[in-house]
Amino acid sequence: MKIATLSIGDELLLGEVVDTNAARVAARLADAGLAVGRHLTVGDDEREIAAAIELLARDHEAVIATGGLGPTDDDVTARATARATGRRLVLNEEAMAGLTAFFARRGREMHPANERQCLLPAKAGIVPNPTGTASGFHLVHEGCQFVFLPGVPAEMVRMLEESAVPLVLAQRKDRLRVRTKVLAVFGLSEAEIGARLTGIDRTRPGLTIAYCVEYPVVQVKLRAAGQSDGEIDTLLAEAIPLVRERLGDQIVAEDGDTIDTTVARLFRETGMTLALAESCTGGLVSKRITDVAGSSAYFLLGAVTYANGMKESLLGVPSHLLAEKGAVSAEVAKAMARGARRLAGSDLALAVTGIAGPEGGSSEKPVGTVFIALSDGSGCTVKVYHFSGQREQIRTITAVTAMDWLRRRLRTV
Ligand code: ATP
Ligand code: MG
Repeated sequence: MKIATLSIGDELLLGEVVDTNAARVAARLADAGLAVGRHLTVGDDEREIAAAIELLARDHEAVIATGGLGPTDDDVTARATARATGRRLVLNEEAMAGLTAFFARRGREMHPANERQCLLPAKAGIVPNPTGTASGFHLVHEGCQFVFLPGVPAEMVRMLEESAVPLVLAQRKDRLRVRTKVLAVFGLSEAEIGARLTGIDRTRPGLTIAYCVEYPVVQVKLRAAGQSDGEIDTLLAEAIPLVRERLGDQIVAEDGDTIDTTVARLFRETGMTLALAESCTGGLVSKRITDVAGSSAYFLLGAVTYANGMKESLLGVPSHLLAEKGAVSAEVAKAMARGARRLAGSDLALAVTGIAGPEGGSSEKPVGTVFIALSDGSGCTVKVYHFSGQREQIRTITAVTAMDWLRRRLRTV
């Protein structure tokens, strides 16, 4: 199936907004087994939009467009579509009813300008927008299924999932289906993972393995294509155990989960509680923990002790340790973890201290030197790492490594 995406908005052409919509649409379609063959970006210009529609209709079977459905004068997607498809612009009753209900639910008065958003090409179908005022719409022009969604990413994503993907799939004539199994891997490079998985896909027609780096995690995507669900089930049932066997404990999350949500689930399942003492990560680990809703059930304390004085007074790190070993040392990392555990009365406490750079390194402790310590009822373990990269990367990989420590520890509970 030949499919294209179209992003509409001056802000995209001016570089003021990064086009995340195109990426999310393409990724979602890829998950459904559909590859986007072309992408266009045009400004909020009626002629340009109309020309893009005519061009894409010629050699595509489906187009998903985003942007330009708002209530202001610069939002001209509907008018441009009417022009390109030779339809009149009419007040769409269904869109109007949806919009009226939207404002009624919120107990708000509808601004007359919003009515403009219901002026759509004649005979267009409505793509409901549960969370915003811009109704999407769809129509078939010259055999091509067009779906128009608003530009606001959160609204767009929901409508993509609920309406656009099903509309495009309904248009699909070939029977080939694709399903993707995603495994998130941490602690191995992309090359190392590739080497370990060699041969698994080559011997199985219909199976491909793709790698996607979301630093420092690598997403391994097993794509199985077949004419039936049964065929796909068989392919995946054979391949997944092989992949698990070769990557073992380096798999930190699967499918919709991330390492953060995996750790959250483990905390809930084990009933353990956590305290954190962070230095070089400046709260990044606490952020990852609290990014997951419900973390207050197990996360008791996150202390960013940047100054030595605070490590001493808040966490009780002995001043002689700081003086003799330095703030970035195994001894101080352990004392921070023990101190945080004492302070919070938690089951587990994890501490990180390191040199994120670009300054502060020495020959003995170069930039990227990081100590992570974990204290529990039975003792305290510490390990030194030598990460490389810029400040940002060092901080990120430190935070993810800390999350992985928690994941591994909780799995033994
Ligand atoms: P509404 O006006 O109701 O919000 P709309 O369809 O008119 O909907 P736009 O005005 O085009 O949407 O965009 C609204 C906002 O959404 C923009 O300010 C921009 O920040 C964001 N946005 C638009 N298109 C994209 C895109 N392709 N990728 C990421 N963000 C986008
Ligand atoms: Mg716009």
